[in-house]
Amino acid sequence: MSSSSSFTRINYDPQFKPVKSIYENRLRQFISSGGEYKDLNLPKFYDKARISLDQSHVKLRWYQVPFEKGSSPVSPDKRPPWKSIIEAAKKGELEFQDAHMGQAFGPSWSTTWFKVELSIPNEWVQSKDQLIFQFDCCNEGVVIDPETLVPATAFSGNGERTEYLLPKNEDGEYFFYIETGNNGMFGCGEGSTINPPDNNRTFQLKNADIVWPDWEARALYIDFWMLGDAARELPDDTFQKHQARQIANKCMDLFDPQDRSSVKKCREFLKKEYFDEFNGTERVYSHGDPDGFTSVYSIGNCHIDTAWLWPFAETKRKIVRSWASQCTLMDEYPEYQFAASQAQQFKWLLQEHPEFFKNVLVPKVQQSQFFPIGGSWVENDTNIPGGESLARQFFFGQRFFLKYFGIKSDIFWLPDTFGYSSQVPQLCQLSGITKFLTQKLSWNNINSFPHSTFNWAGIDGSQLLTHMPPGNTYTADSHFGDVLRTAKQNKSAEFYGAGLMLYGKGDGGGGPTREMLEKMRRIRSMSNKNGNVIPKLEVGTDVDEFYQDILKRTNQGNDLPTWSGELYFEFHRGTYTSQAQTKRLMRLAEIKLHDVEWIATKASILYPDEYKYPIAKINELWENVLLCQFHDVLPGSCIEIVYKYESTPLLEKVVKECEGLLEEVMTFLHENGSGKAQTLSTLTWLNSLHETEDDKVVAEEFHAKLQESKKLFIMSNGKLSVSVDRVTGAIVSIIDLSSGKEFIDLKHGRNKLGANQFVIFDDKPLSWQAWDTELYSVNQYKYLTKIEHVDVISASKKGVTIEVVVKVSEDCKINTKITLPAANPSTLEGSQINICTIVENWQAKNKFLKVEFPVNIRNEFASYETQFGVTKRPTHYNTSWDVAKFEVCQHKFADYSEFSKGVSILNNCKYGFSTHGNLMRLSLLRSPKAPDAHCDMGSHEISYAIFPHKGMLSADTVKLAHEFNYTDKYQLSVNLAKAFNNIINIKGDENVILSNIKRGEDDKGIKSEYALKTNENDTMVVRVYESLGGEATATLFSSLPIKSVEKIDNLELEVEELVTVKKNEKDIFEIPITLRPFEIASYRISF
Ligand SMILES: [Zn+2]
Repeated sequence: MSSSSSFTRINYDPQFKPVKSIYENRLRQFISSGGEYKDLNLPKFYDKARISLDQSHVKLRWYQVPFEKGSSPVSPDKRPPWKSIIEAAKKGELEFQDAHMGQAFGPSWSTTWFKVELSIPNEWVQSKDQLIFQFDCCNEGVVIDPETLVPATAFSGNGERTEYLLPKNEDGEYFFYIETGNNGMFGCGEGSTINPPDNNRTFQLKNADIVWPDWEARALYIDFWMLGDAARELPDDTFQKHQARQIANKCMDLFDPQDRSSVKKCREFLKKEYFDEFNGTERVYSHGDPDGFTSVYSIGNCHIDTAWLWPFAETKRKIVRSWASQCTLMDEYPEYQFAASQAQQFKWLLQEHPEFFKNVLVPKVQQSQFFPIGGSWVENDTNIPGGESLARQFFFGQRFFLKYFGIKSDIFWLPDTFGYSSQVPQLCQLSGITKFLTQKLSWNNINSFPHSTFNWAGIDGSQLLTHMPPGNTYTADSHFGDVLRTAKQNKSAEFYGAGLMLYGKGDGGGGPTREMLEKMRRIRSMSNKNGNVIPKLEVGTDVDEFYQDILKRTNQGNDLPTWSGELYFEFHRGTYTSQAQTKRLMRLAEIKLHDVEWIATKASILYPDEYKYPIAKINELWENVLLCQFHDVLPGSCIEIVYKYESTPLLEKVVKECEGLLEEVMTFLHENGSGKAQTLSTLTWLNSLHETEDDKVVAEEFHAKLQESKKLFIMSNGKLSVSVDRVTGAIVSIIDLSSGKEFIDLKHGRNKLGANQFVIFDDKPLSWQAWDTELYSVNQYKYLTKIEHVDVISASKKGVTIEVVVKVSEDCKINTKITLPAANPSTLEGSQINICTIVENWQAKNKFLKVEFPVNIRNEFASYETQFGVTKRPTHYNTSWDVAKFEVCQHKFADYSEFSKGVSILNNCKYGFSTHGNLMRLSLLRSPKAPDAHCDMGSHEISYAIFPHKGMLSADTVKLAHEFNYTDKYQLSVNLAKAFNNIINIKGDENVILSNIKRGEDDKGIKSEYALKTNENDTMVVRVYESLGGEATATLFSSLPIKSVEKIDNLELEVEELVTVKKNEKDIFEIPITLRPFEIASYRISF
C-alpha cells in the first residue's frame, strides 16, 4: 500500500526526457562572464564590492627606469636591484608620478616600478573576508615588501594571474611596490609569439582594483565548472556523465539571481549530489576509497626557459616571480607540492635575492613542498654538447643541490628538449640518477612513440626508469580533461596504469594558480563520490613517490619494455644547424677548457707550491659554457638579443679567458724549464709518437704532387690520388693507391657532379622556422654550379691546395680550399683531404646550404659520433621510423663504411648530417627568419675533411677527428714535456681514449666552491672511454707517487671499486683497466 501512495496513479503533470545537447549547452550560460545573460547568472555575485584606481582608496604612482633607445636591453642598469630602487625611492630621489587607467608603459624590455598605497573601506576590513588587490598591466610584475624585500606574488598580465591576496591587517592600510618588466610571459613577439620581437611595444594598465570577493560564489564557479566538464567530457557510456549534466541543470534551476543566498543552497545541493563532504578542502585527498587505484599523480611545475623569447637577464626575474608565487600558494594549500629544475636558476636566485632564497625557499624545501629536481646545471640540449659538457651538466648541477639543499636528484628532469642522446642513460647513472622524465617526444610529427612508462637503455646498456606524462604536456591547466587524458592516454597500461600530470603555467615561467589547485580538489572530491570513472587524482605525493610506485608495481621495473639507443626526436631537426656561430664557439670553448684543465692539472701537480690550479676561474667558465647549452640557446631557437648581447659575448669570453689561463700557465712553465723545446699535444697518442720519432725524412713517393690534364687537377701523395674537375671544382675521384679502390661514385644516385659539391635546399617548414627543416625539403634543391674559378693556389712537396669559388647569389659566394698534404707511411698523416670553406656574406631567406659527398659505399647503417661514442642510423627509408631520420646529429665525424672500405667526414664546428643511398651530406648553414630575423646572416668559416679508409669504422677515424679539432700545440722543454707525459699516459687497445683530466674537486689545496668534503691527499681525476663499441683493455701509466686509485662516479663522490696498481721496473705505476663497450670511466688517482 505504501508504494502506491507515493506513486501517482493518474498523470496530470507529464514530464519530458531532456534533450542532451540542449541541456549540455545550457551549462555554459551559468558561469560565462561574457555573454548576454551574465547579470542573470553566477558572475553577478563574484564580487561583493570593488573600487578601481581612484588615487584615494587605490593610489598608484609609477617610475620608469631609464632606457635609452638602441642601447643593450640586457645591461644591468635596465633591471636595477630592488634594494637600490626602494632605497632611492625612500630618499625621494626618484620621481614617481600618478598612473591612470589605460596608460601605456614601455618600451619592450624596460622596467617600470609602481608604488602602491591602498586604503580599504572600513566595512570591508570588518567583514574579516580575504580581500584582493587586482592588477594587470599586460606585462609581468612582482609584489615586493619594502621592508623585508621579500616578494609576495607575481602578475603575468593579460588576464593571467592578476590577484594579490592581501595579508589581513587591522587598519586596512597597505603599502608595497610592484616591479614590472615590459614584456609578456612569452616575450614581445610581433604578431605571433615566435616571431621576432617588436622592440617598441608598450603595455597598458588595464586593472588596479581592490576587490571584496564573494568567496562562496567563486567556489560555486569552480564546483560548477568541474561538474560541467564531467558532463561534457566523461564517456557517453557512463551513467556519471549523464548524471552530472542533470545535476548541473538542477543547480541552475535552484539559482536565483535576485538572492545571493541561493549560491549557498546551490553549493550544498551539489555537494550532496556529486561531490564528497570535504569538497573544496585539502581533506579530499585523505578521503575516498583507500584501496582505489590512483591513476593520476600530479606535481606542480613552471617550466622556465632559461632564455628563449626573452634574454637570460629577464629569466632571472621570471625565476623570482614564479617561485615567489608558488611559495605563497604553499601557505594557502598545504597539499601543494612544486618541483623546479636547473641549478643555474637557483644560483641566480641566491645571488639576486638572498633574503627570499634563505628565508622562504629553503624552509619550503625542508618542509617537502618545494622540490629542487633534475640534477643538471640547466635543462640542457643533449644532442650537441660534447661528452665532457654533458658530464659537467650533472657534476655542477648535483653538487650545487648537495651544497645548498643537502640532496641530489635521482631523476633527470627534461620535459622539453629536442632529442635525447644515446649516452644520457650512462651519464645519468654515473651521476646518481636512475630515473628520467620527458614529454617532448609526444611532438613527433611522423611516428607516435609507443610507451609512457619504460626502461630507456643507452648504447652501453645503462638504463633509466623513464616516464613520459600521458597527458602530453608539461604545462597542464589541471582541467578535468587534463586529468582524464593522463589516465586514458597511457600507452603502457598493461604494465603500469598510472600517469604523472605536470601542471602549471610554463615555458615563460608562472606555475600553478589557485584556480588549478581548487579544480583538483573538486576533481578528487568527485572521484571520491563517484568512483574511478572519474580518475583518482593524487596531489601531495612527490615525484619520487610516483616513481617508487612504478617500481613497486612492475617487479622493480624488470617487467617494463625497453627502448634501446637514442630517443630520436622526429621534429626540430633544424636545430642541429641554426645559429652556426654559437655552435662553432661552443665546440671551441669545450676544446679550450679541455686544454686548460689538461695543462693546469699537470702544472699544479709538478709545482704544487708555485702554481695554483685556477679552480674558481675554471668552474666559472664551465658554468658559462653549460648555461649556453640550454635547450633553446645552443640549438638556435632564441631571439636575436640572446645571441647578440648574451651567449655570443659569453662564449667569446670563455675562449679568451681560457687562452689567458693557457698563456699564464705556459709562461710559468717556460720560466721553469730550459733547453730544447718539444711540441706537446693534449691528445695522448700524439705525444707518444713524438717521443719515439724524430722528424723523419719521408721518401719522395709520399711528397704531395700535382698533375694537370685538360679536364682535371690531380693531387697525389703516395697514399691517395684526388682529382678535381677544372670546370666544376668538384672532387670527381679519390683513389686509395695501395688498393686501387675508388671512393667517389659519379655513376649512380642523384649527385653525379662529385664530392665537395654545394647544394642549396628550399627550407620552408610548416612552422617553427629556426627549429624545423621538413622532409619535403630533401627533394627541393639546386646544385650550385656557377663557378667563378678553379685554381691551384699552392703546390709544394708539403701539400697541394686548389681553390674553388662558387657563386651563390649576386653578393654571396663560397670560397673553398681543397688540400692534399704530403703523407707519412707510418702514421695517418696524408690520409685525409682537408677542406676549408668560407661562405662570404650569406644573406639567404629560408634556404639550407649543405655540401655533398657521393661515395662508392653501401651499408644499411652509417655511424655518427655522439658523446663518448657512436650512434648508428639507417641509410634507407624502409619504415616511417627510418624516414623520420632524414637529418641527424653528429659531432666530430660521420662515417659510412662497408666491409672493405669507408669514408669518414670530419668537421670542426658542424652538427647536422645525413647519409642515404650513396650520398653523404654535411649540413652547413640555414636561414630561418623567426624568432631571430637575422639568424646566421654574414660570413662563416667551416673546416671539414674527407678521410677515405680501408675496412670499417676504426679508431683511426676517432683519432683523426680529435686531431682535426684539438689543433693547439704547446711548446715545453724536453725534460718538462717528458715529466708532463709521465704524469698520466695510456697504452693499450686503440679504441680507448683518454679524454679529460682535472684536479679532484675536493682536493684540500685547490679550494673549490663546489667542494663537499676534503680529500686526504692530492688527487687527479682521469676520464677514459671506449669509443667504438667493443670491450677494451688498456693500461694507464703514471709517475706520481700513487697512494691509491679508485674508479669513481661522475660526481667524484661514490667509489665504484678500488683499482690495483703496480710499480714497474722504471718506477712508473701501471693501472690496468678494462672497459665495456662505450663505457665512460673515471679514475681518481691519489698521491
Ligand atoms: Zn623549454
